[in-house]
Amino acid sequence: MENQFFVDSEYLSPEALSRKHQLETDPASRTDHMAYLPGMERIQSDVMDKVMAQMGAYEPDRYTARDVEAALAHETCSIEDFKALLSPAAEPYLERMAQRARLETRKHFGNTVYLFTPLYIANYCENYCIYCGFNCYNHIKRMKLNAEQIEHEMRVIADSGMEEVLLLTGESRSMSGVEYIGEACKLARKYFRMVGLEIYPVNSDEYRYLRACGADYVTVFQETYDPDKYETLHLMGHKRVWPYRFEAQERAMMGGMRGVGFSALLGLADFRKDALATGLHVYYLQRKYPHAEMSLSCPRLRPIINNDRINPRDVHERQLCQVLCAYRIFLPFAGITVSSRESAEFRNGIVKIAATKVSAGVSTGIGDHESKYTGQESGGAEGDEQFEINDGRSFAKMYDDMSAEGLQPVLNDYLYV
Ligand code: SF4
Repeated sequence: MENQFFVDSEYLSPEALSRKHQLETDPASRTDHMAYLPGMERIQSDVMDKVMAQMGAYEPDRYTARDVEAALAHETCSIEDFKALLSPAAEPYLERMAQRARLETRKHFGNTVYLFTPLYIANYCENYCIYCGFNCYNHIKRMKLNAEQIEHEMRVIADSGMEEVLLLTGESRSMSGVEYIGEACKLARKYFRMVGLEIYPVNSDEYRYLRACGADYVTVFQETYDPDKYETLHLMGHKRVWPYRFEAQERAMMGGMRGVGFSALLGLADFRKDALATGLHVYYLQRKYPHAEMSLSCPRLRPIINNDRINPRDVHERQLCQVLCAYRIFLPFAGITVSSRESAEFRNGIVKIAATKVSAGVSTGIGDHESKYTGQESGGAEGDEQFEINDGRSFAKMYDDMSAEGLQPVLNDYLYV
């Protein structure tokens, strides 16, 4: 079994360690985070300008109870209404927002809830995101599954009954190339009816290739839509280029993907502004690509391995709930995913209000589904986990729990003919 260590602090040369220190302490030493790197496709699109103009003008504290009342009274939620619903003035209206969100969810999704599982096939990463356990300077066990190992993991997951898988790789083009990911998609297509990707952003022709290999949708986390804050958190690697990341979903649509997913990592910057930008990113792209399936999620920061320095701006559960309800009211057709970063109790509640999709049987480690799903040793090395999860329910348990909540678990709603 291949189990190589990638760059990390234990193996870095003194020069590399000094570079790390320089990146952290000297902003002038970092590359321009707004400049595209060679090979990065530039597209003609006005979506970024529209989102950023709205976000720049947004002053959450300017909204009043009257604005929130008006937003809740309107049949269709405007951008101004969305801003009001995300504002502090809306916090006392959480109950009413939840009622309205529940109505919209039931209208468009009935009582269904989709189940899927993520599968990390590699955890090499060339980026230095200071809040992530996979970052290239963190000393963790790195690995990349070969085709045989990927297929084994997929078989274990598929045997549990799951029909949708989300493939994740970390972000290393050199270690997990597009062809490697394409081969994984082809394998996934054998075992699953729906295949999602959460990989480093690529160009539209590469998305087209991955689509041909079997990928259905692509999710990209923008992390924060605040470019200045983004610059201080993503110190190195291709991920540092903020606009190229922003345009990933549109390139994926140009490459023929069926759907795209969006997210900010709440807690990195002003969560109200990030939630606004995420919602508007979906809104403007949906108008441009009306056939596309759009979904969003709203993870909050979780503790990571080897890093107790990060002290995120806490986003409390009520505030998270407010964001999810605002998303649902503003974007009634969009899928909303709530990850296993959140507790079982929270997920059980929010699927009855706003969310439409939950992960189950989750492991953020590499090559450990055998041990997690069957209790058997995997027989090989396992890579470290990206972050700690909060809801470790198996697929079977999740299925039963969702049914007990009066919901209909859905494993797939799409047929290729
Ligand atoms: S957040 Fe993603 S890109 Fe950043 S270090 Fe972690 S795995 Fe790499």
